[in-house]
Amino acid sequence: MIRQKQAYIETFGCQMNDRDSEIMGQLLTESSYLLTSKMSEADVVIINTCSIRGKAEEKAFSLLGRLKKKKQKKPSLIVAIAGCVAQQEGNKIFERMPHIDLVLGPQSIYRLPELLKDLEKNKHNKTATEQSTSFSIPAFLPSLKDNLIPHKKFVTIMQGCNNFCTYCVVPYTRGREVSRKLEDILAEVSHLAAKGIKEITLLGQNVNSYGLEKTGELPPGGTSFPDLLRAVAGIEGVARLRFTTSNPKDLSEDLMCCFTELDNLCPHFHLPVQSGSNDVLKKMNRKYTIESYLEKVAKLRGYSPGIAITTDIIVGFPGETENDFEATMDLLEKIRFHGLFSFKYSDRPHTRSNEFSDKVPEEIKSKRLARLQSRQEEINMERNLEYVGQTLKIMVEGASKSAEGQWSGRTGSNHIVNFNGHSNLRPGQILEVTIDEACLHSLRGTLI
Ligand code: SF4
Repeated sequence: MIRQKQAYIETFGCQMNDRDSEIMGQLLTESSYLLTSKMSEADVVIINTCSIRGKAEEKAFSLLGRLKKKKQKKPSLIVAIAGCVAQQEGNKIFERMPHIDLVLGPQSIYRLPELLKDLEKNKHNKTATEQSTSFSIPAFLPSLKDNLIPHKKFVTIMQGCNNFCTYCVVPYTRGREVSRKLEDILAEVSHLAAKGIKEITLLGQNVNSYGLEKTGELPPGGTSFPDLLRAVAGIEGVARLRFTTSNPKDLSEDLMCCFTELDNLCPHFHLPVQSGSNDVLKKMNRKYTIESYLEKVAKLRGYSPGIAITTDIIVGFPGETENDFEATMDLLEKIRFHGLFSFKYSDRPHTRSNEFSDKVPEEIKSKRLARLQSRQEEINMERNLEYVGQTLKIMVEGASKSAEGQWSGRTGSNHIVNFNGHSNLRPGQILEVTIDEACLHSLRGTLI
């Protein structure tokens, strides 16, 4: 009996990479590969990489390094690197790791079956890292096994970014903004909803600029992001709708209105601010000021009083002074975010800030990060205490990871709630719980 070829995919980084790995997995399955979770059984190994920080890149290279031995034992093994490091480093990767066969950029994942065929035939390494301005995202309908239908899913609406924040590799590794065709997005969401998927998260590096041309203008007859939200929210079966990630400069009043108009649009907004200092925001090329950010947040809270706002902050950006950092700490007090993802600045290849002088010493970065995180943890707790006594709708996620015999669910505001539930609950069900207790990163409740 002919043994079916097997493929193993390891994914690092963001939801965009998860999505790309899902697409590569499906393309491989459609070309008669079997996906395996055991690298040792694979005929093809794909490492889908992230380049947002040095650490993520090193992790991927150390895994790729370990594949050299496997390749020596099994010369027919095909080793591929995909994702942002593949795009960033290109051909140079073969010098560093000659045992790698394929370097695959994010825009080339749809060519994977053809590239593998060519590799099997010609046995010499290949690079596919073209980035063309005429690139368009092909239509894609996830094939879902009926017995493995999840209750929520990410749907990519665009790829790339035109913003060139000075610390970010994304515009170099994922190219210019390309918005997916409206009909392809609606077809995919309808397909998923018909399969019983209840929660949809629209995904892009900067979803607010969906459908906009390079000029930032909406072409005649074009569909803006708020209109896309309205169209997706109107699809039968979509119980909950979310989106990520947004650049505050493109946050429009029309988008804010959606939080009042659309009952199934979840009251949570991830709005990366990155710094509380206008000087630092200028050096980051973020194209907004703290004053405009505060104004937009206040307006958004006007449209959706209970909305949970979370953010990203980078500490130790080149030239960040004590005063700049104090401005960031002030911002925490002014907005009192419901959650924060925070990082120490790190140089990234090709980015402008890589060339900036007056880098902040590591120990100062660490001190600032620790202070920022400890204050935000206090605010998290204060914010979570505000929910005690409230009755909230949650979507069941499954058995609780942290509490034996308990179930876990998620509120519209994206808070995890642990609660006692009976065994016939199902992920995706929407139930009401009364919040009895607040914890640092979750809530405890009682099913009504
Ligand atoms: S908007 Fe986001 S993805 Fe785009 S360059 Fe800035 S940080 Fe990177």
